[in-house]
Amino acid sequence: MTKEEKKHYDKVARLGCILCKSVFENPHTPCEIHHIRRLGGKRSLAPVIGLCPEHHRGNTGVHGLGRKAFERTYNTTEEALLELTLGLINDLSQLR
Ligand SMILES: [Zn+2]
Ligand SMILES: [Zn+2]
Repeated sequence: MTKEEKKHYDKVARLGCILCKSVFENPHTPCEIHHIRRLGGKRSLAPVIGLCPEHHRGNTGVHGLGRKAFERTYNTTEEALLELTLGLINDLSQLR
């Protein structure tokens, strides 16, 4: 992992669970880093989003449900959550 990636992961982690934030309006739920593997390669930074343990590995999470059921359940997509994450990080960096 490069320094730049580490910094990016830290920012993603600081946002908390992006699903809790966007769907449940529950900001800053402590989160784990979820890699969106199939989007990898083209971007300079690995595509990652923050998900709390439940929404990551739990029965209602992306790995527990599988991506398709997860996206259907919450009416969102990994791509949308990624865009949201990157947008929030961008907003934060404008403030500093
Ligand atoms: Zn969550
Ligand atoms: Zn994951």
